[in-house]
Amino acid sequence: MIVDILSLFPDYFQGPFSVSMLRRAQEKGLLEIRHRDIRDFSDDPKHQRVDDRPFGGGPGMLLKAGPVVRAIRSVRGPQSHVIYLSPQGKPLTAAFAGEIAKREHLVLLCGHYEGVDERALQLEVDEEVSIGDYVLTSGCAAAVVLVDVVARFVPGVIGHPDAVEEDSFQKGRFDAPHFTRPEVFEGLGVPPVLLTGNHAEIRKWREQEACKKTARVRPELYRNVGEL
Ligand code: SAM
Repeated sequence: MIVDILSLFPDYFQGPFSVSMLRRAQEKGLLEIRHRDIRDFSDDPKHQRVDDRPFGGGPGMLLKAGPVVRAIRSVRGPQSHVIYLSPQGKPLTAAFAGEIAKREHLVLLCGHYEGVDERALQLEVDEEVSIGDYVLTSGCAAAVVLVDVVARFVPGVIGHPDAVEEDSFQKGRFDAPHFTRPEVFEGLGVPPVLLTGNHAEIRKWREQEACKKTARVRPELYRNVGEL
């Protein structure tokens, strides 16, 4: 999968994409992440300005349509899917991330200031995606979240493909609680069933614990388990 990220701060992404699984995914050639600075597409090459005041007044500045449209067109190809990270977008869920992971080329547009001139979105954006019902200062953090969650569904990125299947939300409920050595930590033991080696019983216990916590913390998710 190739991901082009269009933003005002390409340096923002240096940390999150150069460690751990996302770094390994890039080293293995499973994921290629490229960056474009929207300022490079300014119609004011001297000052590289890409923002302006909103028509009709109001607080803050907007990214202008011209630089955004040119930045997108500089990377767009026939297989591209252009996503604008936006609080007004479709909520990012595990199921939705799995769908996005089937794309060959993602173009992620990060908004800044009060957002982006609507005409750029009409002309070049295929879909708006939100990472939650709150407002971030820019789309950069949202792009990191989207790449991270989508990469987990790209075959080969996670060492154990089964791990993804057991993760929270895959079956409409949370993952089960996990324990590792030592067997006793600060007076707390490990649930005895996990030490029996009886895999059928362990599976049953994990299922029960996962459902109990889901019902307690996210009852609306738990109600859907029966429908899956
Ligand atoms: N005025 C906009 C609104 O209320 O819909 C919010 C603009 S926000 C300050 C700046 C940028 O952050 C947005 O253009 C978008 O790219 C990004 N952003 C903010 N919240 C987001 C969210 N929940 N999910 C994805 N992107 C978000």
